[in-house]
Amino acid sequence: MKELVKNVLRGLHIYHPLQSGYRGIITLLLINYYRITYFKYKGTGFSCNFCGICYERFVPEFPSMNIEQAINSNEVIAGFGENVYCPNCRSKNRERLIRAVLENELAIEGKKILHFSPEINLSKYLKIKAKEVLSIDLEPEFYRPIDKEIIKADATKLQFDSESFDIVIANHILEHIPEDEKAISEMCRVLKRGGLAILQVPYSEKLKSTIEEPFINDPQRQESLFGQKDHVRIYALFDYLERLKRNGFMVKILSPEHLQAYKKYAIQEKESVILCFK
Ligand SMILES: [Zn+2]
Repeated sequence: MKELVKNVLRGLHIYHPLQSGYRGIITLLLINYYRITYFKYKGTGFSCNFCGICYERFVPEFPSMNIEQAINSNEVIAGFGENVYCPNCRSKNRERLIRAVLENELAIEGKKILHFSPEINLSKYLKIKAKEVLSIDLEPEFYRPIDKEIIKADATKLQFDSESFDIVIANHILEHIPEDEKAISEMCRVLKRGGLAILQVPYSEKLKSTIEEPFINDPQRQESLFGQKDHVRIYALFDYLERLKRNGFMVKILSPEHLQAYKKYAIQEKESVILCFK
């Protein structure tokens, strides 16, 4: 029955793999409801850097009890909370964060970008601003409504020449990939020298080491261990930085204090942005 519902939603192009399960479907329906009633959120204090509308609050998203346990006990910075979705354009806090950094700290005009599992608003923005954007995913059919030209690619075996992109964006992707270091190494290989990768993941500053079961295939257990049905780990921040460095990147952290100016976009309070240079 569950598969049937998913297949119908996929056929209608309203099922998104990163929002798997009934909770995701309910969230999607709710967000569409908020879109109709978004004027209730309008006000001052926050604004959306995608659609430009000002709000006194954004749409919240709270985790289920199972997920909450995994996230809270490990103090994971994971994207839930009071102000998550834009009631109008549906941008998520993690998309608004990347746009704010790209727009204010880097110049993407004239750049060639590789975008993993494209988020709808961020993808549109990149395509307007950058010279060329290539979207990829292991299951591209799910992302066709976002980008008709998206192509299939396995992050651990990218089919692109070395040093062929100026910027690589994989926003909350690596925590899904069993062999994440192979993927990091590939992302570094296809990046030009002097290029930049933005590879945000959910992470914990409390954990001393990453907790992971890379080849687990048990959605219920994944949800209670890692906080999402298709995650295979929770990164300890220190360990994540080590994985990036030993696969070719130099890292620079933009701290929450540095990102203070972007709080008006309702980004996560405690999240840092990890810039990965080659
Ligand atoms: Zn918006």
